[in-house]
Amino acid sequence: MPVTNKDILHWLQRSTQVLHENNAFLTQLDSAIGDADHGSNMDRGFSAVITKISGMQEADIGTLLKTVGTTLVSTVGGASGPLYGTAFLRAGMATAGKQHLEGAEIVAMFEAAVEGIKARGKAQAGEKTMLDAFIPALEAGKQAQLEQVPVTELLQRMAGSAESGMKATIDLLATKGRASYLGERSIGHQDPGATSSWLILQALADTVAS
Ligand code: ADP
Ligand code: MG
Ligand code: MG
Repeated sequence: MPVTNKDILHWLQRSTQVLHENNAFLTQLDSAIGDADHGSNMDRGFSAVITKISGMQEADIGTLLKTVGTTLVSTVGGASGPLYGTAFLRAGMATAGKQHLEGAEIVAMFEAAVEGIKARGKAQAGEKTMLDAFIPALEAGKQAQLEQVPVTELLQRMAGSAESGMKATIDLLATKGRASYLGERSIGHQDPGATSSWLILQALADTVAS
């Protein structure tokens, strides 16, 4: 079963709810190694997204995701606004005109998003950022696609790898973003952006599973 534009709408709604519920948690993580605003940034951005897309029931997936990207860029600010904004814009370009996505198209969508984050933030794997959730998720998605597993399982594997990657950020030294100002003191804390990335990927797996 492919992922439909309705699934994408439901994913965005679920993400909004999950990010709202985790506002305090994400802010707590950001208070340890940043400026204590990641929860409110994501909550504000996605509640604006939900308002924007509420009338877009018939829109294709690319149009939906591009709308998410422009909304996040204009409402979130900080580091994560342009980074998530670019991720969704690139994901939207990769899915332009599509009403549904098969496994290979889902992987291509995430590949475009990851390339966008890398280009925008000049970061790579292992720098204690959202990429440390996204890159393992993308690798898992590629592997699942090689094995031709159903889309539900592909998305579950991606979310599981994002979660492991998120947990692995605890031991990493931050070399990008505000957390890098702390140097060695950034070690021992989970990255807030990797955490929101996992929440968003888990929301997609849960949406398509149910
Ligand atoms: P700010 O740091 O401007 O307050 P947020 O708190 O909303 O923005 O987001 C912080 C998160 O952004 C970090 O936890 C990290 O995951 C992510 N981040 C910061 N810089 C980069 C970068 N150059 N590349 C990828 N992700 C980054
Ligand atoms: Mg912050
Ligand atoms: Mg900030």
